[in-house]
Amino acid sequence: MIPSVLPTYNRAPLSFVKGEGSWLVEADGRRFLDFGAGIAVNVLGHGHPALVGALTDQAQALWHTSNLYEIPQQQALADKLVEATFADTAFFTNSGTEACELAIKMVRKYWFEKGQPERVKIIAFEGSFHGRSAAGIAAAGSEKMTKGFGPLLPGFVQLPFGDHEALAAEMDDTVAAVIVEPVQGEGGIRPLPDACLKGLRDACDAVGALMVLDEIQCGMGRTGKLFAHEWAGVAPDIMLVAKGIGGGFPLGALLATENAASGMTAGTHGSTYGGNPLACAVGNAVMEIVATDEFLADVNRKAGTLRQSLEGLVAAHPDVFEGVRGSGLMLGLKCKAPNMDVINAAYGAEVLIVPAADNVVRLLPALNIPDEDIAEGVARLDKAASEVSKGLKP
Ligand SMILES: *Cc1c(COP(=O)(O)O)cnc(C)c1O
Repeated sequence: MIPSVLPTYNRAPLSFVKGEGSWLVEADGRRFLDFGAGIAVNVLGHGHPALVGALTDQAQALWHTSNLYEIPQQQALADKLVEATFADTAFFTNSGTEACELAIKMVRKYWFEKGQPERVKIIAFEGSFHGRSAAGIAAAGSEKMTKGFGPLLPGFVQLPFGDHEALAAEMDDTVAAVIVEPVQGEGGIRPLPDACLKGLRDACDAVGALMVLDEIQCGMGRTGKLFAHEWAGVAPDIMLVAKGIGGGFPLGALLATENAASGMTAGTHGSTYGGNPLACAVGNAVMEIVATDEFLADVNRKAGTLRQSLEGLVAAHPDVFEGVRGSGLMLGLKCKAPNMDVINAAYGAEVLIVPAADNVVRLLPALNIPDEDIAEGVARLDKAASEVSKGLKP
């Protein structure tokens, strides 16, 4: 008999009843150190007083109104995002996937309005992830995500990640846009080198194509800049944001330049919930904390500490791990042992980490994780790795 919850997830037998900072309490009372943060969502950990306050204050006043009316919290959040980024304008969604959908519509409408309605080709990269909608899976294009769901939305081409020659061969004036994650998340924590992102910007400019950056996972302070592309000193035309921006409340956004957004006039797009007062109250509180130099400096310091500890972990368990990669507090351990063995052993040691493709485990802790929790989490990973190691020996 089919379970009452559609069985599309492989769930661990854990259920959490309370969160406190970087700790999650299991129903049986065990305390887990959270190095996953709900897959880069709980940027300020669990139960942060400023977010709880923003949400409960707004809940007392007004939960929801329609986008038929002005929503001051939404306006305030858009102003903050525009102030802090390349963007001139923002649209709010409930998820990353919805932001990705809008990006594809925006790109197509842009060329339609420019009198080139046939210019629909969007270049994406192998190993990428842009959500599970019909457009999102067509963009990423992997067999794993698309098999059985055809016919796929046409117009997408996937190139090997970081393959400059393949890009040069594909880039011409039929390309409407390129979409890329500055650091691939699901794909196995694969950062695009700064020089590649710059090269991609130049390649887009050479043919007039729009550059769309999917910063749903790597944005919102995760890499130690508010947005990962800032490290490369380039700006996109369109950027997708979600996960961290709501700190655990469902919220996403598309940010765009005035030029890229020029086709999206009244009536061309909308959302019932997107940018509602509850979500934006939390989004504003997140931005007030995360989008400050002091906070981001501390993320970089913590990232240095964690990375160094992980290098030590890899050195201590060369049979389990191959190396560390990533940027800021978006780190991956490339495994030699099967990554799910490492993750299950970590559950045993009461520390939460997240699988990714390419036999990688992801560490995406809260950006405000205390130093002592970093040390405790790594100690638990060390214990887990020893367990995995024992299992590997004949
Ligand atoms: C999580 C993610 C998405 C999808 O976001 P949802 O909120 O799950 O819809 C898209 N792109 C990237 C890079 C992501 O990490």
